[in-house]
Amino acid sequence: MIGLSGVRAGAQAVIAAIYPPHCVNCNAIVGHEGALCGPCWRDTPFITGLVCDLCGTPLPGEAPKGPVHCDDCLKIARPWTRGRAAMTYGGNGRRLVLGLKHGDRTDLARAAAGWMATAGAALLQDDPLIVPVPLHWRRLFQRRYNQSALLARALAARTGLACCPDLLQRRRFTGSQDGKGIEARFANLASAIRVAPGRAALSRCRVIVLVDDVMTSGATFAACAEACLAAGTAEVRVLALARVSKDG
Ligand SMILES: [Zn+2]
Ligand SMILES: [Zn+2]
Repeated sequence: MIGLSGVRAGAQAVIAAIYPPHCVNCNAIVGHEGALCGPCWRDTPFITGLVCDLCGTPLPGEAPKGPVHCDDCLKIARPWTRGRAAMTYGGNGRRLVLGLKHGDRTDLARAAAGWMATAGAALLQDDPLIVPVPLHWRRLFQRRYNQSALLARALAARTGLACCPDLLQRRRFTGSQDGKGIEARFANLASAIRVAPGRAALSRCRVIVLVDDVMTSGATFAACAEACLAAGTAEVRVLALARVSKDG
């Protein structure tokens, strides 16, 4: 007698033989869904070792006892308490982010959520609420989906944490941050984001983990964190798929 689970396993094996899972980066056949093949894994700039505790950028040296901060985080006030990123924004890191953002590769979110859950394990303690960085409706209309919301949902599904994809809103269209200097980036976003009027109660007195695909200057995370804190959030942490790092 074969039980139902045996039948299901058999069916999965048949499906895997007909449609074997492919590397999420290069399409080579891999062992399981949502994985990178060996060469792509080696060539993806995952962040390991010592990192800045506020932005997750990799730092040289060995881990000291307490948290360390990079030069940028020593200079720029960060309205959040801790931050991490799964990889640096270069090579395959850039390719994966652009695929998710512009290439309709929404399937990447599941794999990315696994890498983010690993990189951000320390941030995902204390039953936080997962909240994506919002997209203005005009951009949402063009792109049809918010890549940060896909990441937030996939991360929540993976960790069992609660997610509120529409907690934050963009009040006005801020355009692209590309090509702007650091001060212009912060000025462009100041007061551009707020907690949605119907969501204020959810944001109060708890830990929020903000999720975005890329952290560059940190201006977007800062605007989102300030909006949460203004609405009564106890603590904000930030988690990105990729960190634009000066060295990579
Ligand atoms: Zn590959
Ligand atoms: Zn930093």
